[in-house]
Amino acid sequence: MVNSCFNIQVANLTSKALKHSPFTILRILLSVFLILILVSCSKQKKSIPELGISLKDDVTFLASDELEGREIGTDGEKKAAAYIVNRFKAIGLTPAGTDNYLQKFEVTPAQNPHEQAKIGAGRDSLSIIGTNVIGMIDNPGDEIIIIGAHYDHLGYGGVNSLYRGDSLVHNGADDNASGVAVMIQLAELLKDEKLQKDILFMAFSGEEEGLWGSNYFNKNPTIDLSKVSAMINMDMVGRLDEKKALAIHGTGTSPSWDAMVNKANLDSIPLLLRPSGVGPSDHTSFYLQDIPVLHFFTGQHEDYHRPSDDSEKLNYEGMAKIALMIDRIVDELNTADKLTFTKTKDESSDTPRFTVTLGVVPDYLYGGKGMRIDGITDDKPASVAGLQKGDIVVQLGDFTVDGMNEYMEALSKFKKGAETTVIVKRGDKELTFPIKF
Ligand SMILES: [Zn+2]
Repeated sequence: MVNSCFNIQVANLTSKALKHSPFTILRILLSVFLILILVSCSKQKKSIPELGISLKDDVTFLASDELEGREIGTDGEKKAAAYIVNRFKAIGLTPAGTDNYLQKFEVTPAQNPHEQAKIGAGRDSLSIIGTNVIGMIDNPGDEIIIIGAHYDHLGYGGVNSLYRGDSLVHNGADDNASGVAVMIQLAELLKDEKLQKDILFMAFSGEEEGLWGSNYFNKNPTIDLSKVSAMINMDMVGRLDEKKALAIHGTGTSPSWDAMVNKANLDSIPLLLRPSGVGPSDHTSFYLQDIPVLHFFTGQHEDYHRPSDDSEKLNYEGMAKIALMIDRIVDELNTADKLTFTKTKDESSDTPRFTVTLGVVPDYLYGGKGMRIDGITDDKPASVAGLQKGDIVVQLGDFTVDGMNEYMEALSKFKKGAETTVIVKRGDKELTFPIKF
């Protein structure tokens, strides 16, 4: 199809031509013909459609106070789900839930720290009903590519908030209205492409509570999971800083990922590729079913899990770049053989289990030695000890901390009430602090 800019040129030329002689008209028609050849020969670079509903419109609605932080089981979550259903419908996706576009699930939250939440185990007086929203582009082939993002957030705060003030709406613009908006744009982009593989779009709920929606879907899939060639997750993609990096997790889950991802990076964004398929978002649920996964992530920030994670702080151009990059990855997946799955290193029985926390937000994009602190929660061990944002933890007790993995490994060795020391780099100084968990 020709682009709109070309249509306008043709219209202008034709109206001018009407005022001139047949010879001039012939010349103009000839040049139009030449332009046509040029346009059809050069490969069209895709862009996000300027008309219609923009990334910003979707984020602004999903992260508005009216949705009250989209906590699972609340009216705000239902309003968000209804909005996504309308967007899926308008784009022309085929419903792929259990109830039209919806897949409802029941969860009984853990009643004490020794218990796990019961997902999909039936309704009781304590259970919460959550809703996944699922739509599909039905293409001729048999394989399925899943593109997902969670749409729930923290409501008015709760235990997962890092904010210690009066109860306020946590709008969750970056976390994760951003991922949902990019997913919807991808549905718009991919709808009209002639692809061989089906594309399943999923908006998950209950992610913030512990990946509930994606966990439920994988135990109660509405499609044949053995046909899924890959799952791409977007969680917090609204703060791209091209001077820093775009993190892509899960690149070790298939031998094909590194090459595909680098090839799709036409904007030459610095990439931080992390192999592990296990991470703090929904792709983990698919990885555990032996499905190759990717998770796109633009990094932690001070507004993370706070009421200030608002829509005006997002980089919408950056989100468009990420959408186009994923679009190119889907094009590659479409023509490739079904990806080979590989298990990644830290998916083992000795995955660290934490009983204590330092009360910090790690900088996941930090590539140097140690664990850089990007935020501190008040009244937790790190803040009580006097650690600051920007400090780089290099030692915890007897354990050297070279990076995130070593940090998590070290942290898993402490019990509540334990006392030890932490060594941090602050500027060019190394400081030691006593710390109590
Ligand atoms: Zn979150």
